[in-house]
Amino acid sequence: MSTLFEKIINREIPADIVYEDDFSLAFKDINPQAPVHILIIPKKPIEKLSDAQSDDKELLGHLMLVAGKIASELNLDNTFRIVINNGAGAGQSVFHLHLHMMSGRPLSWPPG
Ligand code: 5GP
Repeated sequence: MSTLFEKIINREIPADIVYEDDFSLAFKDINPQAPVHILIIPKKPIEKLSDAQSDDKELLGHLMLVAGKIASELNLDNTFRIVINNGAGAGQSVFHLHLHMMSGRPLSWPPG
C-alpha cells in the first residue's frame, strides 16, 4: 500500500510543490510549524532514515543539497533548520523518509 507521500509523488493527491527533480520532491507541509515549512522527500520509498543502506549514500547527500538549493531560491538568508523524525517515538507519522525544512522564525535549541 502506498504512503501519503508516494501519492503526492504520483500526483494522486495535491500538494504545493516547490521543487522537483528525478530523485526528489519538495512541497509545503500542510500543517506548518514555521512560516517556511517544507518537506523534502526522495522519490525512492525509504520508510525511515535508519532503513537507508550504503547504496542510498548519494541519494541522502542529494536531499541535503536540494535543501541548500531551496534555501537559496527562497532567500532564506542561510537560516533554516533541517529535522528528520525517525520512528514513531521521535514523532514520525508518515513512513516515507522526509526532511523537514523550517525557517522564517527564531528556532530555539534544544528542539522539543
Ligand atoms: P512526521 O511527523 O512524519 O515527521 O512529518 C509528517 C509531516 O507531514 C507533518 O509535518 C504533517 O503536517 C505533514 N503532512 C501530513 N499529511 C500531509 C498532506 O496530506 N500534505 C502535506 N503537504 N503534508 C502533510
